[in-house]
Amino acid sequence: MKQNRHSQVILFFGLQGSGKGTQAAFISRKFGIPTLSSGAVLREEIVRGSKFGKLVARFVTRGKLVPNGTMNKIIRTKLSAGLCRAGIILDGYPRNLAQAKGLESFCPVDSVVLIQISDREALRRLRGRQICSVCGENYHATERPSKSGNLCERCGGKLVIRADDTPSAIRRRLHTYHKETEPVIEYYRKKGVLLEVDGGQEITLVNRGIERILGLSTAGG
Ligand code: AMP
Repeated sequence: MKQNRHSQVILFFGLQGSGKGTQAAFISRKFGIPTLSSGAVLREEIVRGSKFGKLVARFVTRGKLVPNGTMNKIIRTKLSAGLCRAGIILDGYPRNLAQAKGLESFCPVDSVVLIQISDREALRRLRGRQICSVCGENYHATERPSKSGNLCERCGGKLVIRADDTPSAIRRRLHTYHKETEPVIEYYRKKGVLLEVDGGQEITLVNRGIERILGLSTAGG
């Protein structure tokens, strides 16, 4: 592990709905570690209607992984060697072994956080999920409703349901996670950098658990 704990390269893993995006954002804001979410990068391009966005939209809306060549290229443009040295949180990348090995060639990984939830819990959470169309903040119709109705509490943006939160896309995404992403988790487990937290707990407890396992916080357990 690096001398400065804030300069770690940290990966977040977890089933869809595990809260990995939310938790990555918490850690990012509190400790000033930049975060790069592959899903957010793709969604931004889709909303912008860029050529790249049009290319990836048909994969994302169907709950399919974007092909490795395309995905690696976009991540390489966003992830400089400087960022890897200074510390960064990656959320949603890598998603399969080919991507993990590609990443390793230019950005060595220090810690991997796995937020554990069951398929059943993932399905329950995804069914009510809402996302801010402007800043990407996550909400849930019953578990974490916005205090501002159908607007984002942070920026006032309109809350929407993600195009890939349809029942068929959700099923496909969970299947892909087990088939392609779980081997990546095992890969990091063997390397001895995997840190696990129970994602079924209350959101602040999950957050505290993550800070503890990453060695970012020693106060209050
Ligand atoms: P996420 O927000 O991480 O759930 O990602 C949403 C969607 O973006 C996924 O279902 C994929 O279609 C696509 N995506 C995100 N990250 C990757 C990746 N590393 N490789 C391929 N496709 C990805």
